[in-house]
Amino acid sequence: RPVLEFDSLTVRYTPDQHPALRSVSMRVPRRGHLALVGPSGAGKTTVLSTLLRFVNPTAGRVLLDGIPYEQWTIPAVRSRIGYVEQDAPLVPGTVRDNITYTAAEASESDIWQALDTVALSDKVRSLPEGLDHEIAATTLSGGERQRIAVARALLARPEVLLLDEATAQLDARTESAITTAIRQLSEHGAVITIAHRLSTIIDADHIIVLDNGTIRAQGTHTELLNQD
Ligand code: ADP
Ligand code: ADP
Repeated sequence: RPVLEFDSLTVRYTPDQHPALRSVSMRVPRRGHLALVGPSGAGKTTVLSTLLRFVNPTAGRVLLDGIPYEQWTIPAVRSRIGYVEQDAPLVPGTVRDNITYTAAEASESDIWQALDTVALSDKVRSLPEGLDHEIAATTLSGGERQRIAVARALLARPEVLLLDEATAQLDARTESAITTAIRQLSEHGAVITIAHRLSTIIDADHIIVLDNGTIRAQGTHTELLNQD
């Protein structure tokens, strides 16, 4: 059974507006990487917002483990569905605090492995105890902040990870950290990305092309290339 299903989902933000999603149906397998692509305004963010229950369906249903969303509490949904935002907020504290606060039981070796994967271990190791404190709050670049969010997800290992790739040009370290993390996480769970990089799209197991609130095409990269 798929971990998530959209059953003729329609989302309308305001009554006088075109729906952001119109009767979209899709099934998300328990493992694998699903990439959402499409022009600005296509409805990609609305898919993520609906999954996180920031917005409610106007019509249709979302099912988690075959059970309609309205039967899950919001905390239950959010504990199973992780989110890496474009501009991930930091909590006050150290880099370590920032990657472990959603994974209190993470082992020391898991923490270092996650830091290594996102190329932040040097940053943490090279700092004297007290100084680590300031780095998170003040001196991190956008790429480093996103890598912190990715490390958080690696430790939390959600069943479903939603990842909104930055539209801005990412530094090479951040790009490769995201690629590796998506690969690792999609072996254990479902990863849904709003993909902006060609390498992410090519790597995905399944691509859904959204346009104007509907699914315009879907399949693997090769299948889509052969369609038209
Ligand atoms: P078929 O062509 O045999 O009907 P599918 O097109 O359903 O198979 O799936 C082909 C591959 O893509 C499978 O490995 C499947 O797990 C994967 N897949 C299908 N849909 C999705 C999705 N929404 N997200 C991620 N992977 C998917
Ligand atoms: P994408 O992520 O593909 O760029 P969105 O899901 O953000 O697309 O937007 C889909 C449509 O919904 C757009 O027409 C957008 O203007 C509209 N929309 C998105 N968020 C809101 C909102 N909070 N209130 C009203 N309309 C919104």
